[in-house]
Amino acid sequence: MKRFDVIVIGGCASGLVAAINAHRLYPGLSIAVIEKLPRIGKKILATGNGRCNLSNETADSDRCAEYMNSEFAENAFEKYSVNKTLDFFSSLGLKTYTDSEGRIYPLSNTAASVVDAIRFNLDGTELITGVAVTDVKKQNGGFMLNGEYFCDKLIIATGGKASPSQGSDGSGYALAESLGHTVTKLYPALVPLTADAAVTKPLKGVRIHDAFITVEKNGKTIGSSRGEILFTDSGISGIAAMEIASALEKNKEKGTDIFAVIGLVPEMSKAEITDYLTSLCRENCRDCDSMLTGLVPKAAGIAVLKASGVYSPGKEIKTLTKNDIELIVDTIHHFRIKVTGTKGFDCAQVTSGGVSTKEINPGTMESLVCDNLFFAGEIIDVDGIHCGGFNLQWAWSSGLTAGELGGKAEC
Ligand SMILES: Cc1cc2nc3c(=O)[nH]c(=O)nc-3n(C[C@H](O)[C@H](O)[C@H](O)COP(=O)(O)OP(=O)(O)OC[C@H]3O[C@@H](n4cnc5c(N)ncnc54)[C@H](O)[C@@H]3O)c2cc1C
Repeated sequence: MKRFDVIVIGGCASGLVAAINAHRLYPGLSIAVIEKLPRIGKKILATGNGRCNLSNETADSDRCAEYMNSEFAENAFEKYSVNKTLDFFSSLGLKTYTDSEGRIYPLSNTAASVVDAIRFNLDGTELITGVAVTDVKKQNGGFMLNGEYFCDKLIIATGGKASPSQGSDGSGYALAESLGHTVTKLYPALVPLTADAAVTKPLKGVRIHDAFITVEKNGKTIGSSRGEILFTDSGISGIAAMEIASALEKNKEKGTDIFAVIGLVPEMSKAEITDYLTSLCRENCRDCDSMLTGLVPKAAGIAVLKASGVYSPGKEIKTLTKNDIELIVDTIHHFRIKVTGTKGFDCAQVTSGGVSTKEINPGTMESLVCDNLFFAGEIIDVDGIHCGGFNLQWAWSSGLTAGELGGKAEC
């Protein structure tokens, strides 16, 4: 049997910073990280398209409310704010920059630098890789893992169920439940939508850089976002579409139709588009196929004309009536596509739901139902609703907090 003062299960974002903080605060403790994959930090490498969007300058302030269970999360963000997190990374030797939209990246623009910075600061920690923890039992005030590793204090940082190819296969939830915790319903979040292929297939590859997308159930808006969307052969991807996925998943019921309603040109009002199209039809002789290319990509323009019922190939735009133009403008602002669901956990960036926040001390991440147990990161029922560095900031803030070990570790 191997014995440690502290074991962290999960060697990625939240678990690794928890281990570093615990070692810095309590250098006399023996600490181990157990990671099921052969190497630590695999998911970090995949983040931000390989650039690791590691935080967002607004994550801990005005946009804090845009996390699920934001009141719980606020405590960790107060302790380890964005600035304090960046100071922490600076102390690891990693410098960062902030882009014009507030997203924070490593100065090197590569996620590997983040993993390197963490890896080179784990010298006080034993890394046990290639071992999946499948069983945890309470024993003598501590914990026995897989019947082989004993620790006095345990941090579970196994992530959620999203993107299992990067290690997070949801096995941490069963460990939490076996120690008396409740896990709320789990949904894939930040994931592409699946939709009526008859509509999306002809649009495959079309990107709208600034769309306003809402998701409607029985005519009622249940989620919305603005930003880029990308049509695929089976649905809608892009940041704005991904951001409304969890609202869709949470409201999906058999027999209920859900629609994505897309404003394709939200920066122009209906009146502005009407004026633009009226003068285009008056002054130009072109056919309908290219009528909307001044506003949206050609394939999207044709889809709009078809959806508004005014399309016929080769039809000259000067033959369009005032009523036709009204129908087209309406469709540009409300392009409706029936959505069937999402691409699921395999393609999701994040899990919504997790270990109930009611059972965790928000100031320490310590379990309220099992002594000496802590949680960090996505396994907790907290998720950032937006793309842009919010979920990693939660992983860092909660991980650093858990690494304080409740402020009562004895060396
Ligand atoms: C493709 C992709 C891109 C993303 N991009 C961004 C981004 O740019 N910005 C952002 O803020 N967020 C991003 N995210 C989300 C972000 O990566 C996660 O929210 C974050 O990594 C969660 O950290 P975590 O430590 O809680 O869990 P994870 O990073 O998932 O780490 C959990 C670790 O635990 C290990 N593990 C699981 N079960 C066991 C077990 N039973 N025994 C031992 N080890 C176990 C896993 O192998 C894994 O290494 C992205 C996610 C994906 C999938």
